Amino acid sequence: MEETLEEAKNLLICAEENDLDNYFMQEAIKEAKLSLNEGGAPIGSILVSEGKIIGRGRNQFIQMNSIIRHAEINCIENGAQKITKLDGESSYHRLFSKATIYATLTPCEMCSGSIIYFRIKRMVIGENRNFPNNRAYEKLFKEAGVKYKVLDNTECFNLFSEYLTNNKEIYSKYSRLGEKKE
Ligand SMILES: [Zn+2]
Repeated sequence: MEETLEEAKNLLICAEENDLDNYFMQEAIKEAKLSLNEGGAPIGSILVSEGKIIGRGRNQFIQMNSIIRHAEINCIENGAQKITKLDGESSYHRLFSKATIYATLTPCEMCSGSIIYFRIKRMVIGENRNFPNNRAYEKLFKEAGVKYKVLDNTECFNLFSEYLTNNKEIYSKYSRLGEKKE
């Protein structure tokens, strides 16, 4: 009887977690669409700590003519800047250690490394089909003790795959898609 109650509680917790994750993924999708409207690549990211959005970021390869401005990097930096402006919060460490980062697609090696470096607690991915090679970095998260979840969100997948179909040349200029295979 107790076990059943425990299972029911766990199911409820999972259902609530899924609802929250889907809600915050919609916010990451808003960032992706913002980039698209600016003429950029539709990839978005959100940082959430203690139930609040503390950072937002979008891919800005094209907008900033930058190879480094990935959505997750922008999101982490935006979060750190906002936190240090909050009253009584002198550093980002405490909030980052409780935070979940959301990204519309699988993070690359650089972003995975940054998430681990800044000791973010949890990562939620919109989809992992556009860049299947990036799934290899899941093991980095596992080794570092970062929780990892894939939502397999159709809108995230379609947004980027449709973009890439028409913009592969420009996107490749800023990303490793442009690497020549020896
Ligand atoms: Zn990245």
